[in-house]
Amino acid sequence: MCAAPNPYLDDDLVALGEMVERFAAERIAPGFTERDQTRVLDPALMAEMGQLGLIAPELPEAVGGQGASRVAAGVITEAIAAADLSMSYINLLASLNGQILLDHGDPVVVTPWLQRLTAGEALLALALTEPRGGSDAANLALRATLDGDHYVLDGEKTSISAADQAHAAVVFGRTGGPGARGVTAFLVPLDLAGITTSRFDCHGQRAIGRGSIFFDNVRVPLDHRLAGEGQGFVSVMQGFDFSRALIGLQVLAVARVALKETWQYVTEREAFGQPLSAYQGVSHRLAEFDTQIEAARLLCYQALWAKDRGLPHTAEAAMCKWWCPKLAYDTVHECLLMFGHAGYDRGVMEQRLRDVLGFQIGDGTAQIMKTIIARTRVGRRNVPA
Ligand SMILES: Cc1cc2nc3c(=O)[nH]c(=O)nc-3n(C[C@H](O)[C@H](O)[C@H](O)COP(=O)(O)OP(=O)(O)OC[C@H]3O[C@@H](n4cnc5c(N)ncnc54)[C@H](O)[C@@H]3O)c2cc1C
Repeated sequence: MCAAPNPYLDDDLVALGEMVERFAAERIAPGFTERDQTRVLDPALMAEMGQLGLIAPELPEAVGGQGASRVAAGVITEAIAAADLSMSYINLLASLNGQILLDHGDPVVVTPWLQRLTAGEALLALALTEPRGGSDAANLALRATLDGDHYVLDGEKTSISAADQAHAAVVFGRTGGPGARGVTAFLVPLDLAGITTSRFDCHGQRAIGRGSIFFDNVRVPLDHRLAGEGQGFVSVMQGFDFSRALIGLQVLAVARVALKETWQYVTEREAFGQPLSAYQGVSHRLAEFDTQIEAARLLCYQALWAKDRGLPHTAEAAMCKWWCPKLAYDTVHECLLMFGHAGYDRGVMEQRLRDVLGFQIGDGTAQIMKTIIARTRVGRRNVPA
């Protein structure tokens, strides 16, 4: 899969990608369609990923990481996603939450969680969206009230990936007045008294799943607060740039596998006495998607490369997040059509289409990403909403 020359990937990273691709082909790909039906992420497989150092490798060795680059995290995440997008949520959530915990948590509290996270023994969700809406995220209502040495959480988070499979969640609640500066983040173990969860019947990404998390008078120790009060948006959410580039690589990995299989198929299937590839209506369509995928993939690696160097990459990450899921969906859609009636049967191709669609919504829609890009270009004053 890493065949095309890529300036962001040296020989070691190419070898890493090939190693993870072999692991994913042997251990993850065989259960791809079955997990779509059972709707359960295999904890033993997650532990295997942890033992191989495949989960949040960018974290320091002291908390179980490898001290690797964000580009390396991208290489691993895309190789897992090529086999099963749902399983690559393990990488995505660990990289997003791992960075938040490391940067903003009390080391005594978060270190054991980070060690379990990198070992593949714990899954952490990120709980921001509420029933009233996700795009206007700073307008959240879940109440967090200080009571002695605890915060008391009351409210509902909804549409949360892995809601009923995660062991803990980074939860955003309102501690102050309206707007972003009234929002505080917490690390919340999901076995605390007063927490219940539900599971939705999702269109795709069914093995990771989504659901609601209900908080009824939940007492969270003060030392589980992440960053200061009112810092939930201002500093904790900075980590989203990293995950947006990873999401781009996840969905493109799915599209690249679909495209590879389709290139092969159109040379084997014949119509009107010739292979399908002989018709430009077929081969040029695939060539167009192939071109755009190569370019989009470079953009994702560029964003991760910039993150590794502390360079600005907010606009690039938002570009990855709106463009790649749409491109991946359009590509897999075209691939499915190239397989004719066979593509419409239940199986890997239609599952890929359902899986990649979720990321046109999850982690922020295209409209919100384009607003972020516009604001980095001409400022918030000129792009108020
Ligand atoms: C697969 C998946 C996984 C998810 N995982 C998580 C998770 O782990 N944690 C979590 O917290 N949330 C998660 N979500 C929720 C997701 O982040 C929200 O669904 C998303 O932010 C949009 O919020 P909403 O659904 O409330 O839509 P709304 O905010 O109600 O928006 C509805 C529509 O209006 C558009 N819109 C809104 N405002 C504007 C504007 N100013 N200009 C133009 N258009 C606008 C939106 O783009 C959208 O098309 C997930 C969602 C999905 C589908």
